[in-house]
Amino acid sequence: MSTELLRGEPVAAPIHERVAERVQTLREEGTMPTLATVLMSDDSADECFVELKHETCADVGIATRDVRLEPDAPAERLYREVERLGETSAVDAVFVQVPLPDGVSLTGVRRRLEPTKDVDCLHPENVGRLVAGEPWFVPATTAAVCRLLSAYDVPVPGADVVVVGRSDVIGKPLANRLLWDQSGGNATVTVCHSRTTGLAAYTRRADIVVTAAGAPGLVDGSMLTRGTVVVDVSANRRPDGGVVGDVVFESAAEKASAITPVPGGVGPVTLAALVENVVRAATRCNGD
Ligand code: NAP
Repeated sequence: MSTELLRGEPVAAPIHERVAERVQTLREEGTMPTLATVLMSDDSADECFVELKHETCADVGIATRDVRLEPDAPAERLYREVERLGETSAVDAVFVQVPLPDGVSLTGVRRRLEPTKDVDCLHPENVGRLVAGEPWFVPATTAAVCRLLSAYDVPVPGADVVVVGRSDVIGKPLANRLLWDQSGGNATVTVCHSRTTGLAAYTRRADIVVTAAGAPGLVDGSMLTRGTVVVDVSANRRPDGGVVGDVVFESAAEKASAITPVPGGVGPVTLAALVENVVRAATRCNGD
């Protein structure tokens, strides 16, 4: 059995093209789509993730603002900054990079985000819309996983999908999206996390395993059944600066029918989905 490599670039490229054309039109009409990122970390991996977002925006003609706060700054400064960006008419979209420093609550941030600019879908209104299947924004990573599965014709309806990770930014929104009674949904979803006992029993029975645990080496081939589709969302920095996922690629690839590389799998599609969300915010095509 040959294993298909689920590469992200071929999926991301046409999205970039469409977004760049749309941005060009908007700019000609006098609208400059603008994303503001907020980073409260001096970790080089987090800085790198933010820089990639700015580079991708620049590639498609989207303007950016780069707000950085010291990790030991008071949480109130971050909250005020998020509120200020919500009120700034020249900013269409706001993205707060996680993880946040200890003592700064994501709940504090999410309530202060302007929902129509909340492209990563953290505000309670946007979370509710996503769960209801009527979103203004599908978070970029969730959208990326679904776009990859669709682009490579991986059947999702009726599939047994195990999502490893229950974070508010990846695991929970992805699980909810896969449950929608709509195209790209209708999966039977199990969400695993650090308190799950016997993770392998869940991954072995899955048709599709999606890992987003931030735990290198967590899943290897012995935890998979032959023919499983494996999507590794994680991007864990190695001490040498390289990036690895949660999955031991070589052993998993021996069992999987299809698998994402890390890097080069979910990541490029996530960036494309983010710029798509920025255009959505800038054009206020929010449904209602
Ligand atoms: P997070 O907030 O730390 O959440 C990790 C989740 O994984 C938690 O739910 C945690 O369980 C669970 N987990 C941790 N260790 C586990 C284990 N040994 N067994 C089972 N579950 C375990 O991380 P995140 O923000 O969701 O990010 C996850 C990964 O995705 C990171 O590597 C990040 O860099 C990457 N990422 C990738 C993209 C992309 O586009 N590819 C975008 C954003 C982030 P508990 O809830 O019990 O603690």
